Amino acid sequence: MERVNEIVLCSGNPGKIKEFEVLMPPGIRVRSLTELGMPLDLPETGDTLEANAEQKARYVFELTGIPSMADDTGLEVRALDGGPGVLSARYAGPAKDAAANMALLLTNMAGIVDRNARFRTVIAYVDAQGLKCVEGEVKGVIIGSPRGSGGFGYDPVFLPEMSDLTFAELPLEKKNAISHRAQAMWRLAQWLDEHHRRR
Ligand code: IMP
Repeated sequence: MERVNEIVLCSGNPGKIKEFEVLMPPGIRVRSLTELGMPLDLPETGDTLEANAEQKARYVFELTGIPSMADDTGLEVRALDGGPGVLSARYAGPAKDAAANMALLLTNMAGIVDRNARFRTVIAYVDAQGLKCVEGEVKGVIIGSPRGSGGFGYDPVFLPEMSDLTFAELPLEKKNAISHRAQAMWRLAQWLDEHHRRR
């Protein structure tokens, strides 16, 4: 069996690449889609976070032959039966407009007392041996109106558990220390470390 010494992170987001690079076991290099001349807009036609993450990672692995990992995230609101979930990015339409998505979420939650929600990230890793999926989540509540200017997406309306500050009010390093994405990344990094050492 071959050792893993490089992984493609199937994302166009340089922030995600930086976050992941520091978590990687020594000897594994993280490569970006841009570096490999791949399109940033990968096919994601699945109806679950798991299906989309797997689809993106398989697509890139099949084209490059390099072990590939892809993440997919959704905001899951209990009173909306887990929505917007896999549709989070395009909740208010194909433009992926974060302000419009948040406004629609608040409209759809008007008068709803149960404000419980979670962010969930699934990361799929694909190499010649197959697929490994890990996930991370942060529980919290959806507040009544946006607060804060940091972060992105739904951060201004998401108050994580045990915090008085929304994700958009927390300094980035604090958000990154507890985030759904960081937790999924830690799990994959830990699995890769074990997997890497076994080979
Ligand atoms: P993606 O899977 O990272 O593209 O995320 C899908 C959508 O979920 C994004 O368009 C954002 O609206 C939302 N999202 C993902 N991660 C976060 C986050 O950390 N904070 C707020 N919104 C997020």
